[in-house]
Amino acid sequence: AEESFHSVKVPKDELSGGLIAAGFDEKSCLSRYQSASYRKKVLHRPSSYLISRLRRYEALHKRCGPYTDSYNKTVEQLKSGHRPASSHCNYLVWISFSGLGNRILTLCSAFLYALLTDRVLLVDPGVDMVDLFCEPFPEVSWFLPTDFPLKSQFDSFSQESPHCYGKLLKNSTSNNSKGLMSQSFVYLHLVHDYDDHDKLFFCDEDQTFLHKVPWLIMKTDNYFVPSLFLIPSFEKELGNLFPKKETVFHFLGRYLLHPTNPVWGLITRYYNAYLAKADERVGIQIRVFDTGTGPFQHVLDQILSCTMKENLLPEIDRLLPMTSQSGTHISKAVLITSLGSGYFEKVRDMYWEYPTVTGEIIGVYQPSHEEYQQTEKQMHNQKAWAEMYLLSLTEVLVTSSWSTFGYVAQGLGGLKPWILYKPENRTAPDPPCRQAMSMEPCFHAPPFYDCKAKRGTDTGALVPHVTHCEDMSWGLKLV
Ligand code: GDP
Repeated sequence: AEESFHSVKVPKDELSGGLIAAGFDEKSCLSRYQSASYRKKVLHRPSSYLISRLRRYEALHKRCGPYTDSYNKTVEQLKSGHRPASSHCNYLVWISFSGLGNRILTLCSAFLYALLTDRVLLVDPGVDMVDLFCEPFPEVSWFLPTDFPLKSQFDSFSQESPHCYGKLLKNSTSNNSKGLMSQSFVYLHLVHDYDDHDKLFFCDEDQTFLHKVPWLIMKTDNYFVPSLFLIPSFEKELGNLFPKKETVFHFLGRYLLHPTNPVWGLITRYYNAYLAKADERVGIQIRVFDTGTGPFQHVLDQILSCTMKENLLPEIDRLLPMTSQSGTHISKAVLITSLGSGYFEKVRDMYWEYPTVTGEIIGVYQPSHEEYQQTEKQMHNQKAWAEMYLLSLTEVLVTSSWSTFGYVAQGLGGLKPWILYKPENRTAPDPPCRQAMSMEPCFHAPPFYDCKAKRGTDTGALVPHVTHCEDMSWGLKLV
């Protein structure tokens, strides 16, 4: 069966159920074509409307993308500082910001917003985006050219910037709303520390205004898709794109995010060496937000009690360490990802030192232990991306609360993970975990505002498909 990973030929138009366009150079991005053979079951099919909208977006991107006539013209207008009477192409610029898991979620959020508002998404390459992701659109790049006029300002954009949407609103009175109307670009601050004015982005009235701005520059570290579902003017289109609401990130992630060849090498070599031969793969993603260096006994206890209570991994027999191995001989490969190696060593040793009560054979593997979160180091984030992807290739997944790293794995894999509750006061919570309601990521910093009534409201209680998250009571997720 292993051989088939490389020899299976999937008809091109069938790739990911039609998500992927034809017309790419196959060798430049092998993952685009080979990933289908690593993802065994197709559990969800994209709607034909989503597919047709993606093809329409690709045509728009080709017409308006970097260095096209339309792009050059719109950039000239931006340089002159005046808003044109009309522009043929409007843009959304995504600023590279925050950890890799966060960036993957915000890229998908930004793309969906671009799709809903007929904008062209341009991606700030930051330090490592080009090393991590293939081009998702045929022919014309999604990367923002290095000579883009506002590029040197990206780092300094903040809530205090004169072009910040929230700031513009604060400074505008009914008399000088003209100032607001003449902006050639607007900076959208959707970072977790954003204020009530910035949050008005999620109101229809504000969307009507923003619609006329040719350049929107966005900085965010949040998966803001759930709140797009609460904007009335987007409702119908979103329903057509995603009849099954919990598949938004699943499809957008699989459409946009293809590991580059070096990252695909990390993924496939690891998978084929350690995971392919097992009967079942169990992923455990460990992210500890506590201060101090682990491993912590309470976290290990929590992982073991979750996996055993939920029958994800077998118990061990501490009394009869010499039993002849009877029972089933099913083999399970456990893929652990974590910044440290402590938990991995404990679990691996446990299944080496004692037999399982079921006779199952358990192999435990961890690709890397990078010790601490690093930025600006090429291989560090390539490994992080490879590990999120490897977790998405498991059949059973356990994730840590609050971690976007885990959200990416569950969404790409189409998996409803068991989420380890966040420990409080260094004790393992009881119950230790629960299964997620849906495979969608959680929006950690949603607005709680009723745009029509102009007062606070519980945005997790307005419609059945947008509800509070399992791992963060104030967060919002699609179910
Ligand atoms: P979050 O902080 O858990 O929401 O995830 P992010 O991906 O946004 O930021 C955490 C960063 O720390 C990642 O991008 C990695 O650089 C690093 N990191 C965290 N956990 C792991 C892990 O298990 N493996 C590797 N290789 N890197 C990790």
